[in-house]
Amino acid sequence: MKAVLVSKPYGEDNASISDVPDPVPHEGEILVKVRYAGLNPIDINVVRNKTVYGLKPDPHIPGAEIAGIAQSSGNRIKEGDQVILYPRWFDGTCKYCISGREYLCINGGIFGVLTNGGYCERIAVPEKMLLKIPDGLKIEDAVSIPVGGLTAQHALNMTGAQSGQKLLVYGASGNTGLFATIIGKIIGMEVIAVSSKEWVRNYGASSLYPHDGIPNDLKADVIINSLGGDIFAESLSHVAPGGKIATFGVLNGANVQINLAKMYTQELQLIGTTGGTLSEMRNLLSMMQKHSIKLPIDRTYGLHQLKEAIQAYTGRSQGRILLKI
Ligand SMILES: [Zn+2]
Repeated sequence: MKAVLVSKPYGEDNASISDVPDPVPHEGEILVKVRYAGLNPIDINVVRNKTVYGLKPDPHIPGAEIAGIAQSSGNRIKEGDQVILYPRWFDGTCKYCISGREYLCINGGIFGVLTNGGYCERIAVPEKMLLKIPDGLKIEDAVSIPVGGLTAQHALNMTGAQSGQKLLVYGASGNTGLFATIIGKIIGMEVIAVSSKEWVRNYGASSLYPHDGIPNDLKADVIINSLGGDIFAESLSHVAPGGKIATFGVLNGANVQINLAKMYTQELQLIGTTGGTLSEMRNLLSMMQKHSIKLPIDRTYGLHQLKEAIQAYTGRSQGRILLKI
């Protein structure tokens, strides 16, 4: 089958389309024909070998966010089902898995980082990592759930976000930011989006500011900020007393200066989050179906166009960048 392969010296300039052996499903695994794959910061970091985890194997097939068609049947998934992939390997037996936090599995890791990913024609994965896409939800919308959607949903859950609260979302036109905006609105929050893109208003933001134009006196109960760096440090001035700020990315830098006096005198909470649970992904799938959530898709690219897709992503994309396989 065809697959995108990256190896030394890495980077999208060195990504190539190669013929690799077809995956052979083991006991308990399902063969999936990949139809769509999302492009997220994790994938770009994999292509550039800049993840904090290290890649296995090398040369490596990137691609963490996958939707496709089952080509074999198991107990729950039947041949022909449209499916999305929970992007974490997990053993189901460690203390984290048993408590429902599969994403922290001590013997697991991220699909497409710890193992080859899905920028290819077929994958073989354990049935437990697959969820069937319900009728009425398009596969090109569902493909954004496993990374972009789940990360936002989990971060909001970790902050205890609830109806009536003010939610400030940085990077609101990005994959996770857009989901945080949509989900915040659905659960009854007042969503303030930080983005230069006016169309974010169509997804539930009641106000919109560029990151250098947020009113000084604006305070939010919950802040979602995966940008890191100076923008993260600045956002701490917008947390309301007793408020919470969630981080799951460091695009602009991992080291941030924090005033601890402000943290304790106002009882602020800084929460690190990563991925999400299988159960949260199932709930998000139902929510998307129930609320007929459609995402803006800027453009789709072929497997051979990964470089162009990354250029579009890091440029001024107007929605999701997908690979169509
Ligand atoms: Zn485990």
